Amino acid sequence: MFSLGFYYFFFNKRTSLISRGSTFRIVADATARFDYGLTYPLTYKFQIPLSSSGIQVWKKDSPGGSYIQLTEKTSPDIFNGIEAVRFDYTLGYAYVSILFPQTSDSFYVKFIRNNGDGLTGVTFLNFTQYYDNRVSAAVFTMDDCGVVQLSDFETASDTFASKGVWVTAGFFHMGDFTAETWENIQSKIDNGYIEPASHSMSHLPMSDDFNVGESRQTILDNLTMPPLNKKGSKEYLFAWITPLSKYSEVMQAKVGEYKYLTNVAGFGTYVYEGIFPVWDEISGLYEHWDRYAFAESVSLATMNAQFDSDHAAGKIYHLGLHPQNVSWRADGDFPLHLDYVKNRTDVWYVGMGHLMVYRYATEHIKIEIINTNFDEI
Ligand SMILES: [Zn+2]
Repeated sequence: MFSLGFYYFFFNKRTSLISRGSTFRIVADATARFDYGLTYPLTYKFQIPLSSSGIQVWKKDSPGGSYIQLTEKTSPDIFNGIEAVRFDYTLGYAYVSILFPQTSDSFYVKFIRNNGDGLTGVTFLNFTQYYDNRVSAAVFTMDDCGVVQLSDFETASDTFASKGVWVTAGFFHMGDFTAETWENIQSKIDNGYIEPASHSMSHLPMSDDFNVGESRQTILDNLTMPPLNKKGSKEYLFAWITPLSKYSEVMQAKVGEYKYLTNVAGFGTYVYEGIFPVWDEISGLYEHWDRYAFAESVSLATMNAQFDSDHAAGKIYHLGLHPQNVSWRADGDFPLHLDYVKNRTDVWYVGMGHLMVYRYATEHIKIEIINTNFDEI
């Protein structure tokens, strides 16, 4: 349960008791916001009166700011990682997906009718497990994105973007990158659907800290992160992909120390569960987890069947791949698998780090509710 915070009643003598609707103030934990940005839109599930219609949701970033209406999406729309509201008028729910402001840890949301009247009887229920209350999530993580594999990375990036499916790209051997390498990678990131990740500097755990910090800093120094990894001028790198499927407690502790949120370890090392890993209190990030397989090692039929199984069970489908080992021909197994997976309205297409920052945020946000029918906030 979330605490109610406080109720705020405002009597405006000039305008008398004009109903402005239900307003909510959302406040993030300041430390969590600083450490991890909380840069992915979170989906707040509100109860709205049954049989309502024509509702609008507006937000503003500060008490003195202006309200902006959120874009309404409907269930046939394909969208991921954006601000939007989707209503289920039949069951009386509003799924409100909102980003925190760039420069503040709090914001306001209000519900009004199309005619401008306030809407009463709105209640915050909970965060949805997956963005926009999707049934399941689809996560793809690419290992071994480097100079030698650059053209494969580029082809992979174009393929994912053309299909509207997010992928997390793990860069490695970054000591070999030239300015041109970084520029080529940047252009693919700017094209969308790519979440950068570290796959270590050397691909070998050569040093005590496994290059965890150095690789993070190298990426942040040379790339402009996508908007979902940025808060104001501060940039975040959430995802670490363990080289050679190696794992140790020392590595996990380093990954946590450098404020990554998630550590994935190849495949076959651990049992694939397709569920959120739990928080690791000792190392300060989520527990390491595993992928179902590498795409190049399984058949199209096998991949599709695993996706169907995870989708039906409401799980997180998580597949790894090495871009240089996959056929990118349109009739190759992996592009055909993406065709099978893509464009589903009940699936959340999301990078691995974005998935986990969503999870983290929903566990670390205080909801202070300012709920008034006479709101001038
Ligand atoms: Zn690798």
